[in-house]
Amino acid sequence: MSLDLLDNPPPWPGGARCAVALTFDMDAESLVHLRHGAAAPGMIGASSALRYGPRIAVPRLARIARAYDVPLTVYIPGWCVETYPDTVRLLAGEGHEIGHHGWLHERPNTLSPADEATVLLRGIEAIEQATGARPRGYRAPAYAMSAETGRLLVAEGFAYDASLLGDDVPYMLDCAGGSLVELPSDYALDDWPQYVHMGEFSMAMPIRAPERAMEVFRAEFDAAHRHGGLWVSVFHPFVSGRLARAEALCGLIEHMQAAGDVWFATMAEIAGHVAGLVERGEWTPRREALPFWSAPVEPLVTP
Ligand SMILES: [Zn+2]
Repeated sequence: MSLDLLDNPPPWPGGARCAVALTFDMDAESLVHLRHGAAAPGMIGASSALRYGPRIAVPRLARIARAYDVPLTVYIPGWCVETYPDTVRLLAGEGHEIGHHGWLHERPNTLSPADEATVLLRGIEAIEQATGARPRGYRAPAYAMSAETGRLLVAEGFAYDASLLGDDVPYMLDCAGGSLVELPSDYALDDWPQYVHMGEFSMAMPIRAPERAMEVFRAEFDAAHRHGGLWVSVFHPFVSGRLARAEALCGLIEHMQAAGDVWFATMAEIAGHVAGLVERGEWTPRREALPFWSAPVEPLVTP
């Protein structure tokens, strides 16, 4: 492929051809408690699958990160931070980044602005208590950013957001009160469509063999590597940390490392790199103002 398909990729550190951030959302049982409320304590089967994340998968993923010398970024709802302190301690102790992911996995665009602020502050507090530092980055649960999210993140001093899908390279979000670096991903790099079959969450996908899933993730990497892009996974420990999938993930990392000139970084490192380029005038990113629309668009005719 010699055709240039990507406009204005940023320069990556050390002349790297692309940036890779292995990111995971450690939702654990927040999903079942939020969605099923009073029924959740009786949902022991689903809960056992979800708590596999902090109990079994995260230590395995940390071992993989250690073996391949790559950093992880893990977004964790505040309730999970408090419920699984050993897991958070393990990750933070090994230098992995802990990002904000709500309190109980609430979708911000279903909350009032006041409730969204409450959830954001409580999540910051949990991470700060556990790690000694405020989170630098945020990923909205279920890709459900609200019209208020950007403003709140700016007000709370976040460096970046990782909730959107609007480009192949970092860009800037202009929100009320300031701007944020956006580090986008895509549904193609989410592991739910590949692997998750859980009636409790209305998710009934045919479960792919790990090799098939890796074809999707690897194709995204190969293109990013050819064109200078950004590869950000939206994996989940309870999904991608299962044994056969974790093995396949090792193979994917080996493929990336064999490709060469890849910058493996945490999301905060990537956001810091981008902010530095912008400040020094070394790269001009694309900008988008949020929210996109202030009112619904009136159709010309009513179907
Ligand atoms: Zn999540």
